[in-house]
Amino acid sequence: MSHHPTHSPYVFHVRDMAGSPGSHREVSESFPAPEALGTDVISVPQGTEIELTASLESVSDGIWVSGRARAQAVGECGRCLDEVRQDVDAAIQGLFTAAKIDLGEDEDEPEDVFEFDGESLNLEDVVRDAVVTQLPFTPLCRPDCPGLCDQCGARLADEPDHAHEVIDPRWSTLQSLTEQKES
Ligand SMILES: [Zn+2]
Ligand SMILES: [Zn+2]
Repeated sequence: MSHHPTHSPYVFHVRDMAGSPGSHREVSESFPAPEALGTDVISVPQGTEIELTASLESVSDGIWVSGRARAQAVGECGRCLDEVRQDVDAAIQGLFTAAKIDLGEDEDEPEDVFEFDGESLNLEDVVRDAVVTQLPFTPLCRPDCPGLCDQCGARLADEPDHAHEVIDPRWSTLQSLTEQKES
């Protein structure tokens, strides 16, 4: 599904503020995520409500944005594959500037600087970066999730006493002989 940037809920028109250092505006929006935010294992799914509150402040170089993005991420437990739901409350901040930042030889690219056309702010990248940073590499349904039995795949959380009879390999030949006799 494509969307024109000006129709994106992440876009805020600030032409009136740009070039008037000192002016500021508070924004507070809730909208369904136009696209999923996250990774393969956990993400804020498309259509999930995102609650965005931010302060937009006109500064000499552009617009400084700071605030929070809240949403619920859904993923899969890395041990037992159960669904994991996690609230995300991410701090967002960034400078939107038309000024070209000369990075020179320095490889430390400033993370919080975004392009600004003088008319509108697109907070999608700011929100995405902040939310993704909050998501775990390996989501877990609970910190002590025991996972799945590596022999049969049973959920160990459901069966605390789950165990397989361990047969000493030295006896297994003898046992199969015994089984053959019995059958
Ligand atoms: Zn689990
Ligand atoms: Zn098992």
